[in-house]
Amino acid sequence: MDIQKRVDEINLQFNDNLKKTKLTGDFDNLYLKYFSKSSGATTLLLKELPKFSEEDKKKYGPLLNDIQNTQKEAIEQAKILYQTEQILSPLIDLTLPEKPDETGMLHPLTHIIREMNDFFRYYGFSVAEDREIETVEYNFRKLNLPEDHPATDLQDTLFVKQPNVLLRTHTSSVEARILTNYKPPIRVVTPGKVYRNETANKSNSSFFHQYQGVVVDKGITMQNLKATIETFLKFLYNTDIKIRFRYKYYPEVSPGMGADIGCTFCGGNGCEVCRYRGWIEVLGSGMINYNTLKMCGIDPEIYTGFAWGMGLDRLVMTKFGIPDIRKLYGGGMVYK
Ligand SMILES: [Zn+2]
Repeated sequence: MDIQKRVDEINLQFNDNLKKTKLTGDFDNLYLKYFSKSSGATTLLLKELPKFSEEDKKKYGPLLNDIQNTQKEAIEQAKILYQTEQILSPLIDLTLPEKPDETGMLHPLTHIIREMNDFFRYYGFSVAEDREIETVEYNFRKLNLPEDHPATDLQDTLFVKQPNVLLRTHTSSVEARILTNYKPPIRVVTPGKVYRNETANKSNSSFFHQYQGVVVDKGITMQNLKATIETFLKFLYNTDIKIRFRYKYYPEVSPGMGADIGCTFCGGNGCEVCRYRGWIEVLGSGMINYNTLKMCGIDPEIYTGFAWGMGLDRLVMTKFGIPDIRKLYGGGMVYK
């Protein structure tokens, strides 16, 4: 083939390819098409140079070198131009913030539960979990809650279709299982989900979390209960928090004792959070009822014990500044 014709063809084709590549940005492939050592169109023509006649060598040697340089430079220039246009393109907004960090984090409830578990493990407690679908026996009867007790009311409890089976209404059901299945000395804490027949709103949810503790041994008294609660609340809130104990009735325990902390929002002067009382109730506790021990197979003449339970949701919401309980269980991360 006529050399001039081939040169013209390569030039024509190259210009056409360059035009198209300016739209796609695939300059690396364009470079290979013309300058790959084994199959590049321009490279192959240059390789044939030694076979040319002396006259053609003189004529086409410098010309082909020029073409090679011009083409390489054209690719390089077009590439830079393309990249600059990409950066300046209105489709790319350099002022947009970075993509959010997608690294996982612990749910605030998990965070608090682990902190509490660490505290109680340090004092020799075991951490136990048990079923959320419970029988009436373990959720009520063994805890001294007879059939006609208001806490067993249909309005509060979510029953399943099977008779005498329900979604546990408190973590005390785990206490009943532990007292039934283990022999004293017993020192156990148990975090978990509980269920109530509630209409969801800002501060109520049909499921929430409780943290329960139980201790049974020879010679356990109210003094042990008070010391445990006091040390725990100081760990949870602050060493200089004000704590108040007062008598409260809970059917599972006798006597029952409520624990309040001085309102941290108003310093005890009264505010909306503490409902102008200056105190916030944080947990319920008491000495385990004689009947409960007996029903669970522990001799109440030899052993005594105490138990306490607290809701975790309000505590977590306060600590993490979450105003709505539904946000706590929603998919969005509204907490830091
Ligand atoms: Zn207050």
